[in-house]
Amino acid sequence: MTIAGSDSGGGAGIQADLRTFSFHCVHGTSVLTCITAQNTLGVTRVDAMSPEAVTAQFETVMVDMRVGAIKTGMLLNQEIVKTVAKKFVAFGLGNVVVDPVMVSRTGAQLLDDAAVKTMKDLLIPLAAIATPNRYEAQILAEMEIHTLADMQTAAQQIYKLGARSVLIKGGAMSGALKAVDVWFDGDRFEVLQTEAIDTQHTHGTGCTLSAAIAANLALGKPHFQAVQEAKNYVTEALKYGLAIGRGQGPVGHFY
Ligand code: PLP
Repeated sequence: MTIAGSDSGGGAGIQADLRTFSFHCVHGTSVLTCITAQNTLGVTRVDAMSPEAVTAQFETVMVDMRVGAIKTGMLLNQEIVKTVAKKFVAFGLGNVVVDPVMVSRTGAQLLDDAAVKTMKDLLIPLAAIATPNRYEAQILAEMEIHTLADMQTAAQQIYKLGARSVLIKGGAMSGALKAVDVWFDGDRFEVLQTEAIDTQHTHGTGCTLSAAIAANLALGKPHFQAVQEAKNYVTEALKYGLAIGRGQGPVGHFY
């Protein structure tokens, strides 16, 4: 299941998640939190779903279908973050990937300021894996991140918020750290390094990664293996980025 926003440009959000699920041969269900009007240049409008609509979508699927894993993406506001956290507790869910989506690469705010604290207090503690990028990790860990050591310290801080494991993504780092992600599960650190792909068509990278992790968890893979394979998937998708607009195109899923 993905709990996220719709991207009318089809590059990120629900659209990227469902494509990623299909690629992994798992059936995708979706709970829409909001509808963004968006293209490769940016977001022009966001309409929120009501918390009641979010609850109804979630419960209607959950009471009938066996959901193997869930990822959360763009949750937009505090009410939706609270609603989702409450439902996770009520249903006692374990395989939850929290992608703490806050700001898009084009600079659009995807989570209200008030919701950031709620995300920290209520949702991160329910995550089997939290997947912040550099900027989100800086906010969650309340520190600046410049080096690999900073990434590791931030991962420890976010782990202390209650996530069972943390993956800090290096995509927004510069130089050699760009393709380096750091994973921490309270016990061991892993540094995941792939080749850096030189492309401007990176829209949907974060969504695709967290969706691939959720798909791998649904397939019964151990957490770290789920993360490793998801990172490799995203690396391949970046090689096939699509130049289909005047701005930042989506990562490709067609290899
Ligand atoms: N979800 C939605 C609906 C979005 O529009 C965006 C970015 O614009 C994101 C999530 C985050 O995108 P990315 O995967 O590029 O971090």
